[in-house]
Amino acid sequence: MVKAIVGANWGDEGKGKITDMLAEDSDIVVRFQGGANAGHTIVNGYGKFALHTLPSGVFYSHTTNVIGNGVALNIPVLFNELKSVTDRGVPCPKLLVSDRAQMVMPYHVLFDEYEEERLGKAGFGSTKSGIAPFYSDKYAKIGFQVQELFDEKALRSKLERVCETKNVLLEHLYHKPPLDPDELFETLMGYKKMVEPFVCDVSLFLHNALKEGKTVLLEGQLGSLKDPDHGIYPMVTSSSTLAAYGAIGAGLPPYEIKDIITVVKAYSSAVGAGAFVSEIFGEEADELRRRGGDGGEYGATTGRPRRMGWFDCVATKYGCRVQGTTQVAFTVLDVLGYLDKIPVCVGYEIDGEVTTDFPTTGLLEKAKPVLETLDGWKCDIRGIKTYQELPENCRKYIEFVEKQIGCPITMISNGPKREDIIMR
Ligand code: GDP
Repeated sequence: MVKAIVGANWGDEGKGKITDMLAEDSDIVVRFQGGANAGHTIVNGYGKFALHTLPSGVFYSHTTNVIGNGVALNIPVLFNELKSVTDRGVPCPKLLVSDRAQMVMPYHVLFDEYEEERLGKAGFGSTKSGIAPFYSDKYAKIGFQVQELFDEKALRSKLERVCETKNVLLEHLYHKPPLDPDELFETLMGYKKMVEPFVCDVSLFLHNALKEGKTVLLEGQLGSLKDPDHGIYPMVTSSSTLAAYGAIGAGLPPYEIKDIITVVKAYSSAVGAGAFVSEIFGEEADELRRRGGDGGEYGATTGRPRRMGWFDCVATKYGCRVQGTTQVAFTVLDVLGYLDKIPVCVGYEIDGEVTTDFPTTGLLEKAKPVLETLDGWKCDIRGIKTYQELPENCRKYIEFVEKQIGCPITMISNGPKREDIIMR
């Protein structure tokens, strides 16, 4: 049985918490896309953690944590993260790394920085983790899979070839120092030492695990609107954020994914540039940002303040649809308890017409939010354990959202901790 946990919005919906919680009943947790450019924040008995590459199952000794072939694997970042977790008393997790996963090379990070610098104000707001240069190289077929570390002769000659083209760009476009293939080779030998004990044929491992009746969780990074095909292109990430991609990025048959739990946040937040129709500004945004998440809405990787907005039914209905949502986990609802009135974006006005269907980027730039205002519940809902105990206006908010997005809300997260969850 395979379940996917994915985001409906711009990321930061609280997927890490839901994965950490559902990992308790899972044998295997798999990261299938993305890299160390975003993070999951998890609060549990060991403390508060920001994970960037490790799957959110690492806190349980019975789960195997897998880095799938679809991930942009930054080996030193992964092992620093592993150390930072075990240094804080978490038992060393079971970890597997796909032999087909490709590695973020030191120059991917450099090219990411240089390109943002070159673009200046026209940049993408990249986290400069090397993700876009990494995926560009993967599809240009000049990337490096983990398995290539084990053929030193072939590796060395490929490095020389790749450096040749990279160095033309470095010299003539960016005016930066060239790459040295020998130095890169030594760096990669260091990576090999680190990763060797964990490398495996992940697709085969998962195939066997499923035959034995094991449960697998696919953990998505970012959300639908950052998908390169279905998101707000070009202000997207470079790998697919959709549950469907879980099949490819982990190496599973698509029909095995039976349950797609889409995480939806009770208000909106986004990082990076791009259209954000229900965005709010000034004091109103500052207050929501300050109160949001667990200790404010600031990037888990970058510390950047997130852009804030009201709940967007148009974007979320679409985000849930493209994921193939079977159920919704509705998160950070507790944060809205301070508001007398809660605006919700129920439509987009584009050239004088109102639509509830999420448009392509060009039209999205022109969209103005159509807001409806619901009554707040004006109290702290943390600690509440059942749906019936939630204040009436809070239930009305949930039911309003559920109707607008057309997917069942089965879980309500009313605090950052593992146990802050209401099953409906
Ligand atoms: P992810 O990338 O989707 O895992 O999202 P983040 O790591 O950015 O999580 C969002 C933030 O919200 C984190 O700081 C979580 O600890 C916090 N969080 C998750 N669920 C809840 C919740 O229900 N209430 C509150 N107040 N915070 C939450």
